[in-house]
Amino acid sequence: MAATLIDGKAIAATIREEVKAEVAQLREKGIAPKLNVLLVGDDPASVVYARSKEKSCGNVGINFELKTMPGSTGVEEVLAVIDAWNKDTGVHGIMIELPLPKGMDKKVVLEAVDPKKDVDGSHPINRGYILSGGEGLFPATPQSCIEVMLRSGIEIKGKNAVIVGRGETVGKPLVFMMLNQNATITVCHTKTADLAYHTKQADIIIAAVGRAKMVTADMIKPGAVVVDAGINPAEGGGICGDVDFENAKEVAGAISPVPGGVGSLTTVLIQKNVLKAIKLQGLA
Ligand code: NAP
Repeated sequence: MAATLIDGKAIAATIREEVKAEVAQLREKGIAPKLNVLLVGDDPASVVYARSKEKSCGNVGINFELKTMPGSTGVEEVLAVIDAWNKDTGVHGIMIELPLPKGMDKKVVLEAVDPKKDVDGSHPINRGYILSGGEGLFPATPQSCIEVMLRSGIEIKGKNAVIVGRGETVGKPLVFMMLNQNATITVCHTKTADLAYHTKQADIIIAAVGRAKMVTADMIKPGAVVVDAGINPAEGGGICGDVDFENAKEVAGAISPVPGGVGSLTTVLIQKNVLKAIKLQGLA
């Protein structure tokens, strides 16, 4: 393998220790950080994600409350729960598990969350802070794409970065988050005329597409940094990324694997957001 492996698991472990230490300091001051998660309906993947967050919060000393509501719940009832959590000074972070049941307006529900408690970084006010460079809560997956590079000693400033994908969750926020890191950005999508032309000029490629192994070795400039945010079902079980890792690692200078890369940081970055939320709420 020519490329240096970007070790998401090791980076996540380091951040986890930082979070644990900060939680301990807050607890000494009498603040017990708390994350509340709302799960409407019974999407099996959401149940697994919520339980995994619960376990992980327990490991760093963050209190966790999961509220489940049946898929038949009306939006008014959901908004009432969010409103109560917004007003509860003992709740510091709020997350709404997606997808919501069919017919429930995601926008209405997500926008009901107090932006200072929106640890998922999906409220329009927090999205606005990405553009203005203000102090807000930013989404975990694009943050992770940047964090894995910075914590691996990879310089982003001044580099030509190509982001493949302009989805609301990853690609779009990344455009301005990478711009804030002083990279020069190109964004590619399904209407891009010649994707490989752009990726071949990139010092940094970030793949956020949702198509298994679509970024192939011949699309990568030798020595480039390749960060893979993709999560796709792999042939024969498990998951794979948007990059053809096995071949790409022979060309890239540094590369993040799937699993074990970007996705390894998402939960701990949500926990970091809970700690940032406490500061934004003026409690610490
Ligand atoms: P999304 O909303 O579906 O967006 C996908 C983007 O990829 C779109 O902008 C689409 O272009 C573009 N695209 C699709 N096929 C393409 C092609 N052949 N060539 C060029 N561009 C193409 O996806 P998302 O929610 O942003 O997620 C992106 C990936 O990140 C997925 O694999 C998802 O599973 C993963 N993800 C990972 C985490 C994590 O924790 N690691 C969290 C969230 C998401 P158009 O805009 O033109 O349609």
